[in-house]
Amino acid sequence: MSTAVVVGSGPNGLAAAVHLAASGLDVRVLEAEDSVGGGCRSSEPAMPGVVADDCSAFHPFAAASPFIAALGLEEHGLRWRWPEVQLAHPLDGGREAVLWQDLERTTAVLGSDGRAWDALIGRIARHFPRLTEDLLGPLIHVPRHPLLLARFGLEAVLPATVTARRWRGDPARALFAGIAAHAFAPLDAPLTSSVGLVLAGAAHAVGWPVAEGGSGALTRALAGRLQALGGTIETGLRVESDEDFAGADVVLLDLAPRAVVDVLGNRLPPRTARSYRRYRRGPAAFKVDFAIEGDIPWAAEQCRRAGTVHVGGTLEEIAAAEADVAAGRMPPRPFVLVGQQYLADPTRSRDGINPVWAYAHVPFAYARDALPALIAQIERFAPGFQKRIRGTAVRGPAAIEAHNANFVGGDIGTGSTAGLQLVMRPRAAARPYATGVPGVFLCSAATPPGPGTHGMSGYRAAVAALEWLASPGRPAEGAA
Ligand SMILES: Cc1cc2nc3c(=O)[nH]c(=O)nc-3n(C[C@H](O)[C@H](O)[C@H](O)COP(=O)(O)OP(=O)(O)OC[C@H]3O[C@@H](n4cnc5c(N)ncnc54)[C@H](O)[C@@H]3O)c2cc1C
Repeated sequence: MSTAVVVGSGPNGLAAAVHLAASGLDVRVLEAEDSVGGGCRSSEPAMPGVVADDCSAFHPFAAASPFIAALGLEEHGLRWRWPEVQLAHPLDGGREAVLWQDLERTTAVLGSDGRAWDALIGRIARHFPRLTEDLLGPLIHVPRHPLLLARFGLEAVLPATVTARRWRGDPARALFAGIAAHAFAPLDAPLTSSVGLVLAGAAHAVGWPVAEGGSGALTRALAGRLQALGGTIETGLRVESDEDFAGADVVLLDLAPRAVVDVLGNRLPPRTARSYRRYRRGPAAFKVDFAIEGDIPWAAEQCRRAGTVHVGGTLEEIAAAEADVAAGRMPPRPFVLVGQQYLADPTRSRDGINPVWAYAHVPFAYARDALPALIAQIERFAPGFQKRIRGTAVRGPAAIEAHNANFVGGDIGTGSTAGLQLVMRPRAAARPYATGVPGVFLCSAATPPGPGTHGMSGYRAAVAALEWLASPGRPAEGAA
């Protein structure tokens, strides 16, 4: 039986491990932290009994992932829960933009902008399953749906600020800007529309669900599937060199590219090592978990029903804040994402105290306190919020990295998604998962299709590893 070692137990590491084990390999996962899950874990940081997502919270990518869908993870306890409103975006004066999973309901409320929303976002949502067949993998491939992909490509390359101006009113413009801001890139840069289009299309096609009991349920279910297939996981074991996986036939690294340079050392071909060292880092998150009494007193009504609330004001304000962050300046009014997962999943609350998940976009490795600015942004659209806070747990960029070495300097995208690095990661190569060391593959979010809990980087890297194992010309001694 061939053997595989997977380093790192994030959603991609576990997805790779499950696919390799299902293909008959003897699989061992080595995880540095004491718990599995990487960027997909949950805990009770702000108050005992009040469950928060440590990192990822909303799972449109996992819900749309053909790999995850095929695993039947319900058997291992995974249950998606959808909020009534997928996303709301408050504006000053009690106004708001609202995105329901129901496209018609969304376009009806957008008024005269509804038709343009349907023509662009609605079309993507209607074709979503076919589009994801092409989008959830490497850029360089033979497209399954070339016309669909070509049309998407023409729209996706535009800066988000250009796409947003298709709409006339502030609500639709701000709604799109907030979604595109998940790119963590200046919104006037090429390709920033792509993230907005995919996430908005996903919101209508599959919703932005949460995992019942916390995001950790997704990675626990993946780990359960792996163990059912005979795979094993060792936690508390930080891999520092290739000696830690000596003897394995294939090795999959759920790591950031520079960590791969450290682990593989001189075995890495110089060209690959240079690319991995040059791999750009993105801005950071400043994460805060609150335990609050009751609900957030949003001035706008639908914000009180939404799983996610994007707090940043108008298109222009969000674009200015994102430009600042990308340039290494802390904006006075940062873009803030607020998660009210408990609305869809009441099991996370205790005795009328609810968990509120939030993070602000801040510059890479920002070392100062962004909590006052984050609270001020929420208070701006929900006067009285601060008075309801009963517990607070803060995780700035350095603490985010300490919790998961892949999120260097608080960069939760495992590398910038600005510019071509969004689609050509970790380097411009036809085989992005290959490291150049025989049998050793990269499977983290630093490979296509990029950040998110879809597990598709892990799955695709595992497919590449299996192809390599089956290839007649491979060296007999394997990877290590
Ligand atoms: C605050 C925050 C909010 C987010 N929100 C969302 C969201 O709502 N939806 C979404 O889809 N995504 C979200 N993400 C992004 C998502 O979490 C990541 O894209 C995803 O977890 C990447 O998965 P991965 O398997 O590539 O790596 P990771 O999840 O980063 O896992 C890497 C694993 O490798 C381990 N490791 C690192 N170095 C070593 C070593 N030397 N030896 C052994 N083990 C090692 C780490 O401990 C970790 O467990 C968010 C992330 C953060 C931090």
